[in-house]
Amino acid sequence: MTNNSTIRVRFAPSPTGSLHLGGARTALFNYLFARHQNGKFLLRIEDTDVNRSSPEMTDQILRSLQWLQLQWDGEIFFQSKHRDRHTAICRDLIQTGHAYPCFCTQELLNEKRQKNEKLGLFKYDQTCLSLSKTEVRKRLTENQPHAIRFHIPQGQTEFNDLIHGHTVFQNEEIDDFIILRTDETPVYQIAVVSDDHEMGITHVIRGDDHLSNTPKQILLYQALSWMVPQFVHVPLIWGADKKRLSKRHGAISVEAYKDQGILPEALVNYLALLGWSPGTDEEIMTLDSFTQKFALQAVSKKPAVFDTQKLEWMNGIYIRSKSISELAEIVTQQLEYAGILKPEDTSFSEEYIYRFIELMQERVKTVNEFVESGKFFFIDPDQYDPDAVKKHFTNEGVGDHLTQLIQRLSGLKKWNEERIEFEIRGLAEELGVGAGKIIHPARVALTGASVSPGLFEMMALLGCDTVEKRLNRAYDFILTL
Ligand code: GLU
Repeated sequence: MTNNSTIRVRFAPSPTGSLHLGGARTALFNYLFARHQNGKFLLRIEDTDVNRSSPEMTDQILRSLQWLQLQWDGEIFFQSKHRDRHTAICRDLIQTGHAYPCFCTQELLNEKRQKNEKLGLFKYDQTCLSLSKTEVRKRLTENQPHAIRFHIPQGQTEFNDLIHGHTVFQNEEIDDFIILRTDETPVYQIAVVSDDHEMGITHVIRGDDHLSNTPKQILLYQALSWMVPQFVHVPLIWGADKKRLSKRHGAISVEAYKDQGILPEALVNYLALLGWSPGTDEEIMTLDSFTQKFALQAVSKKPAVFDTQKLEWMNGIYIRSKSISELAEIVTQQLEYAGILKPEDTSFSEEYIYRFIELMQERVKTVNEFVESGKFFFIDPDQYDPDAVKKHFTNEGVGDHLTQLIQRLSGLKKWNEERIEFEIRGLAEELGVGAGKIIHPARVALTGASVSPGLFEMMALLGCDTVEKRLNRAYDFILTL
């Protein structure tokens, strides 16, 4: 029986790029597995590739994880700080006969590779394995540059993947790979194995793209006489074209989804159900309820297809479940970010912003849509949608209708929804036209588009001065058609 409190997992991103959806889902599955079992969810930054890693990327990854509320336990483990230990392990492996120094130069290896490829051979030919002990000692004393290679034993390497089941690799298909480069830098395999051991990791949960690394890592564990952790490979995420999700599919970083107005709860909810299901029809779930129900064994073996529309649908549900004040905070930030509201501007009261949110909340799927489709609540439309113009501004008598509407509205003593509706319907009746003949052109005049929240409530919020100004502008525009 497993003592659940000993479960320790890690998310181990390389800070060579921002956190993308695949990484976020791996982090999420690690998080859920750990929380479900009362274990530890640790974070390791694999920053050993100094040319490709950067502290900015590390910050971005941390920000994205925090935004998704995937809080890790304890201190962050920075792989680069443990290089000496990684190097020492490589030397130990020589002592125990599991590794050997390789003096072949890069040129020689390239030459061999070219020759061997023609013969259909892809592995290192083990030249340096057959050097005598005396020869090796002599070369080492002479400080001859060398790498260290791990000697792959014969046989096969098997493991039981929690998602894929029993998995077997033939060792003869694995090269005597380098564990320490000539410049003394340890390779990924050795860093990962020694850090997972050092951190007491019990379950390595990572993307399917690491599957081919696993036999090499298991062989290292065995050579080092360390406990082999349980391996779990999570299937990748595909785009709609059934190809691995990449930049070609548009936004793939968590930050890009944030910028597009996706809420973190919605992204977490969507990613959790991408390739996993609680076994019920439930689709809207919180991180806590996922934590209660999560089981790695129920993750699908097949890649999951990412569906932006579904994510947006889910996001819409989260937007509608938020309180007006919560949304006001998020949307105000977006309006400021878009330059539509100035932080010091006091012309729009809190009450105005709350009502604006209320009118838009039912209609939007992303936070950004509040800005994109609702900016006319704050600034005059800078243009009229051409289709809306054709449909609603070119009809006979439309200019005249708008003039009469302006007159009627300017006489209003009380500016509220009911009075506005009363006047508009009254005018339509007087003119003997359907109310739509006034409502639609007025909507285009006020918003620039043919869809918007209800006209009367919108006019009530915009206020009589803005309404009058925009109706007059539209009238002038119609004259130019
Ligand atoms: N740093 C590796 C990556 O970002 C992950 C290594 C692992 O999980 O073993 O793909």
